[in-house]
Amino acid sequence: MAKKQFKTESKKLLDMMVNSIYTHKEIFLRELISNASDAIDKLYFRSLTDSTVKTGRDDYEIRITADKDARILTITDNGCGMTKEELENNLGTIAKSGSFDFKKNADDEAKEKVDIIGQFGVGFYSAFMVADKITVESLAHGSDTAYCWQSSGADGYTVEECSKDKVGSVITLHIKEDTEDEKYSEFLDQYRLRGLVKKYSDYIRYPIRMMTEHQQLKEGSKDEYETVIEDETLNSMVPIWKKNASDVTDEEYANFYRDKFFDYEAPLKVVRQKAEGMSNFEALLFIPSHAPFDYYSRDYEKGLQLYSSGVLIMDKCKELVPDYFSFVKGLVDSSDLSLNISREMLQHDRQLKAIAKSVEKKIASELSKMQKSDRENYEKFFAAFGAQLKWGIYSDYGMHKDVLQDLIMFKSSLEDKYVTLKEYVSRMKEGQTKIYYASGDSIEKISLLPQVESVIGHGYEILYLTDDVDEFALQVLRSYDEKEFSNVCKDDLDLSTDEEKESLKKENESNADLFTFIKDSIGKELHGVRFTNTLQNHAACLSSEGALSAEMEKILNKMPGAEGQQMKAELVLEINMNHPIADKLKALFADDKEKLKQYSKILYANARLVSGLSVDNPAELSSLVCDLMLG
Ligand code: ADP
Repeated sequence: MAKKQFKTESKKLLDMMVNSIYTHKEIFLRELISNASDAIDKLYFRSLTDSTVKTGRDDYEIRITADKDARILTITDNGCGMTKEELENNLGTIAKSGSFDFKKNADDEAKEKVDIIGQFGVGFYSAFMVADKITVESLAHGSDTAYCWQSSGADGYTVEECSKDKVGSVITLHIKEDTEDEKYSEFLDQYRLRGLVKKYSDYIRYPIRMMTEHQQLKEGSKDEYETVIEDETLNSMVPIWKKNASDVTDEEYANFYRDKFFDYEAPLKVVRQKAEGMSNFEALLFIPSHAPFDYYSRDYEKGLQLYSSGVLIMDKCKELVPDYFSFVKGLVDSSDLSLNISREMLQHDRQLKAIAKSVEKKIASELSKMQKSDRENYEKFFAAFGAQLKWGIYSDYGMHKDVLQDLIMFKSSLEDKYVTLKEYVSRMKEGQTKIYYASGDSIEKISLLPQVESVIGHGYEILYLTDDVDEFALQVLRSYDEKEFSNVCKDDLDLSTDEEKESLKKENESNADLFTFIKDSIGKELHGVRFTNTLQNHAACLSSEGALSAEMEKILNKMPGAEGQQMKAELVLEINMNHPIADKLKALFADDKEKLKQYSKILYANARLVSGLSVDNPAELSSLVCDLMLG
């Protein structure tokens, strides 16, 4: 029979598995058992609505056999099985979840071996670390013909009919010969196998059975032993979230998390919750230590696994976590839910809503605790998921600000550290009534803004907003602890004394014609021109009026779909009335309007650049500057 080739990616991964230098080869067993358990889950699910499933709930099992002489290890399940197509598709191509990470890491040869292999999700192929030939015989539920998939590694695989009368799969591994460095025979040893099941698969909810040999005293004898063979269930079947918290080690949580939620790193935080009374449930939640590769894309699906008294009824129940906590992984197990509840019913289920509310509260309080007592980890968390919290504030118009506003943080002008709004307010200067912020692409750029310099000069702290969503979120919040947010590049900061205000007002009034002239020289994109007395060293700056700041304009216009309907901030050119430039402009207005026109353009272009905006007509600017240089 002709061999079929593996898909390219799969082939690479296979090669790595076959030649693996990875030391944790033992994880292959966990992977195969986990597949078997998933397959049983699937058939069990089906049995809830499909009466043709004949397997009874108590009949499900995963069975291991080991034959030392023949070097054969088998893992058998009576789950859903695979059709011919499924054998080809599932085992001929590596699973999607794994494949992406594989691609990402494949560039980096050194990392390759450590990062991917065995840490998670390479699943079935990991068996090639210990086996030189693998056979999968499978009969799918509802199908009359069984098929056998067989492969000795990277050179391809065959699929042909075989005889098998029970629904499910048998995975047969021909274990590699021992070498000087590797004793593959250990994977045929019953004690070793039992130990591995205990270590990695103890919580699997179906019995994992194996015939094991024991020595026991012969009946009626005091010193004569005989060998008895016993059908032993190797796993305790107690799910990890049903165990006493004190009996579960960090490593066990991490293993469980990696295995179930396809991460290669341990979680940043494990949260357990148990509720009794109005609603009865247990939750085991994980906060990942980094954002999944697709987290900020549309492909990411939030949700927690939902169990009803220990039986999985839904893999990603999105009703259980709000969008702003969509990064949370984990599960909820409740005795209040019926087993065959449908997705549609779930959306309206009161019990489920109550559980979700309580889970949300728990997450918020755990995050808040972490923020206070473990700032280092919280900052790590915030770097990964902070933007999501801020989106949360913005996207539902602040409806959940009570949950979120104390969880967000910003860098600030005071030190290179994150500060919460509460901390900012607590260290506000006497008499300060507003929370100042400035936004831009980076901390460095923001700190160079003319207005920033001036506000810092007055002794105030400024929040530095660098995420696209930041300013939108603050606009939705409007204020914190009754202190309004104020954009130092947009809002009237009211930093001067009455006297200063009065003299500014006079200056502005008496130069109205000058301003009109400058404005007309620049064109209609400029909303206005005026003097300011708040700048320190800079000659001019741009500020904006209305709801949209210059930074928001930039962000909105780069969003997909923004082409053609460009949003415009109402920009105002503010000229430092105490700078020599102010006098120069006044003088030119009196004697040389042509020059004033050119200088206005240069001044405006400079102000745009300093604000991080681009210049519409760089060629014109360049020739203006050359003219200026030539005198
Ligand atoms: P993953 O488990 O991460 O999806 P695997 O490579 O381990 O990746 O398995 C690929 C697919 O093959 C599984 O998603 C499943 O559909 C199928 N599969 C593997 N083992 C079994 C089994 N024992 N019974 C039924 N289907 C299986």
